[in-house]
Amino acid sequence: MSEFVKNLMSQVKAKNPSEPEFHQAVYEVASSLSLVLEKHPEYRKEKILERIIEPERVILFRVPWVDDQGDVQVNRGFRIEMNSAIGPYKGGLRFHPSVNLGILKFLAFEQVFKNSLTTLPMGGGKGGSDFDPKGKSDGEVMRFCQSFMSELFRHIGPNTDVPAGDIGVGGREIGYLFGQYKKLRNEFTGVLTGKGLNWGGSLIRPEATGYGAVYFAAEMLSTRNQTLEGKKCIVSGSGNVAQYTIEKILHLGGKPLTISDSNGYIYDEAGIDHEKLQFIMDLKNVRRGRVKEYSDKFKTATYFAIDPSVDYNPLWNHKADCAFPSATQNEINGKDAANLLKNGVYVVSEGANMPSTIEAIDQFLNAKILYGPGKAANAGGVATSGLEMSQNSLRLSWSREEVDQRLHNIMKSIHKTCVETAAKYGTPGNYVNGANIGGFVKVANAMLDQGIV
Ligand code: NDP
Repeated sequence: MSEFVKNLMSQVKAKNPSEPEFHQAVYEVASSLSLVLEKHPEYRKEKILERIIEPERVILFRVPWVDDQGDVQVNRGFRIEMNSAIGPYKGGLRFHPSVNLGILKFLAFEQVFKNSLTTLPMGGGKGGSDFDPKGKSDGEVMRFCQSFMSELFRHIGPNTDVPAGDIGVGGREIGYLFGQYKKLRNEFTGVLTGKGLNWGGSLIRPEATGYGAVYFAAEMLSTRNQTLEGKKCIVSGSGNVAQYTIEKILHLGGKPLTISDSNGYIYDEAGIDHEKLQFIMDLKNVRRGRVKEYSDKFKTATYFAIDPSVDYNPLWNHKADCAFPSATQNEINGKDAANLLKNGVYVVSEGANMPSTIEAIDQFLNAKILYGPGKAANAGGVATSGLEMSQNSLRLSWSREEVDQRLHNIMKSIHKTCVETAAKYGTPGNYVNGANIGGFVKVANAMLDQGIV
């Protein structure tokens, strides 16, 4: 670890105690940026990285609501407005009981670099609540969303901060949040992305993160003159990102073998085909059930419940070519990475944010596999949110083909930036350095131009 990173990390830890995910995200970026900061003393002098690490604004608020039994519930709401150097704050809202300040700060920090990589004018933000939508009625989710927006509305706007979905926030939640914003502001604007198609949403936005992660994998494979055709793919999660990752793997001729949720995972040796994917979409998006039901329905599949006594995830211990982590942060630890490599996986394209620990990333980089970090590989979601904002401003809707083509081109461009930047800084094939440096430079230069603000 360089002296600069060591000093920076001790300051970050002292200033932001009990935020291990934030420390991890900063460490990963700072390690890559040592290469740039050596070449550009002006970034050091103007303390660009030190400023990027500090959120421009953190909003923390009470979210009281009444459940179906008439009891009062109290949750905590957050919005981290991290960096607006290149555009309005942009990033999702996460509703999950694990949500806390450190997790949202790590996500907002990553978002700054990711949004910059998309080539679109978007700053970085993230928000959410420790509210758990699981097991709640639609009425409870609606009352919670209305209470959440009753505070958030005064901090956001189409030119200020444009939230979207993330874990636990899909089309239903965005609808309730948008409805409440519109009522309070009395204006119909593109203040949220991921909206319904008949009230300002964009075609392909639901698909974008998963599709983008697979496009990114295909680009990485093309550097070795290969395609996804016939490749065995293991996918974690079963939500928005996982579902459309599976769909695009199928379009490109790959064979998806797994899905998971927080109770366990299924391995389907026959592969998940379009019909089985429809079952998963209905199960997760309509009936809001658990993946175990998949193995009750399809006899080629085996269900494995989570075993809390083991220190690795058996999902990552199957023979395969490609892995698409699409559930949550730190779902691949050092042991999992070793298992992936042992089983022949040589493509990892991260749909989730920071799904690999530092130990796992080190192993992928040492093994010189095609490792696409989340800030590059899953940027298709926010990129298409950017396209939704453009359509809202134009008051036009582009066709499915047009949005998909733009998404595909953006993923190709992000891949090219990563490859060229990694090579320029002497680490060819290192997509981590490519993404971190590629995302940083544009934001850093904008901050230099705009003075000390
Ligand atoms: P969803 O809520 O639609 O799905 C999340 C999935 O991951 C569910 O299957 C869920 O299982 C599982 N999961 C969540 N938390 C945990 C946990 N702690 N342990 C095990 N499994 C868990 O979310 P998305 O698909 O939208 O998001 C998945 C990942 O992709 C996240 O890391 C998110 O930040 C990232 N991402 C999402 C984008 C988007 O556009 N939606 C954009 C870029 C990144 P269960 O049902 O049991 O909770």
